[in-house]
Amino acid sequence: MNIHEYQAKELLRRFGVAVPDGKVAYTVDEAVQAANDMGGPIWVVKSQIHAGGRGAGHFADDPKGKGGVRVSKSVDEVRENAKGMLSHVLVTKQTGPAGKEVKRLYIEDGCDIARELYLSLLIDRATSCVTIMASREGGMEIEEVAERDPNAILKVSIDAATGISGFHCRRIAFFLGLEGKQIKSATKFLTAMYKAFVDLDASMVEINPLVVTGAGDVMALDAKMNFDDNALFRHPDVADMRDEDEEDPAELEAGKHELNYIKLDGTIGCMVNGAGLAMATMDIIKLKGGEPANFLDVGGGATRERVTKAFKIILSDPNVEGILVNIFGGIMRCDVIAEGVIAASREVNLHVPLVVRLEGTNVEQGKKLMAESGLPIISADNLEEAAIKIVAAVKEAN
Ligand code: ADP
Ligand code: MG
Repeated sequence: MNIHEYQAKELLRRFGVAVPDGKVAYTVDEAVQAANDMGGPIWVVKSQIHAGGRGAGHFADDPKGKGGVRVSKSVDEVRENAKGMLSHVLVTKQTGPAGKEVKRLYIEDGCDIARELYLSLLIDRATSCVTIMASREGGMEIEEVAERDPNAILKVSIDAATGISGFHCRRIAFFLGLEGKQIKSATKFLTAMYKAFVDLDASMVEINPLVVTGAGDVMALDAKMNFDDNALFRHPDVADMRDEDEEDPAELEAGKHELNYIKLDGTIGCMVNGAGLAMATMDIIKLKGGEPANFLDVGGGATRERVTKAFKIILSDPNVEGILVNIFGGIMRCDVIAEGVIAASREVNLHVPLVVRLEGTNVEQGKKLMAESGLPIISADNLEEAAIKIVAAVKEAN
């Protein structure tokens, strides 16, 4: 799960991580109130959406205008900037061309920035450690830095058994070119950051930029946090930070029905039981020249209700031009699955080609049911054939 910048900063602040003062605002009046309460003299009005690149982004109704992060030198300017952002659609490198409507703002104290650096913490599965990444190139996308000059990034792995120590912090501080009191400030910052990461069951924290202020303090100017969904039950306060407006409606709906659905950009909808089989299905669709529209694992019980729900979710994606059902009847019998697919196709008035590959218990009865249903279901005997058939059917329909 992702949260907004202001929420991440609120959590980090609790652990003693240095962040500027700020207040969330849902309306222009609240933004003005926040600015007055904070006192200034410089405020930064920041659009809160679950995507980075806000500063360099633009608003859809004003492509040449200012971005989603604006320094404001008076309360009137805060008001103007808040007006220009709230209810407007912000387009950034990370939102895609459709952009995201801004519904919340963060009014933050203007910071006297001496240097912009980069810091992130993530779970590194290769080393089974929390790894801290640091770079002097703050404000840049780290993927770009890694591509241009991998040596510009320092990676420090922290053993969970011993935790973070002074020497880790000093290594990072020296790499970042910090000196004197900045090193002490960075050590405090990193220690608090690591504790927040572990205690909150985060899977990723990115501070970009991490800044050194004119006074020599180290501070988080931006904050992005991701959490392990499987641990959210331990953190009801974090779970409450979920902003459904920022999530894909189909993914949200799928989650409510215990369907594991992830929307992708292709045209071939997939309905599969088992995550491994779902991945293999997506791979083979690509191999045969198609593009999967989604990942969908219907789980163990492919009942009629679940299949119907899954069909509806797949079809709610306007890009879907065909569906491939690939189900292995193990505990579930293939005839029951076929009944589910037939009933669901009727109920949703299926209007795109459908290829079904069934295998397992009672597969012959299942195929017979589909053949006799009178529905234009294309049957396939194996995965390769299924992929070839759906790719061809979608091409033909176009
Ligand atoms: P994004 O990464 O989405 O563009 P950031 O929060 O990183 O958003 O802000 C973009 C830039 O705006 C930062 O690199 C920094 O230069 C500037 N900025 C952000 N917050 C502040 C602040 N409180 N004071 C001064 N400058 C800021
Ligand atoms: Mg940033």
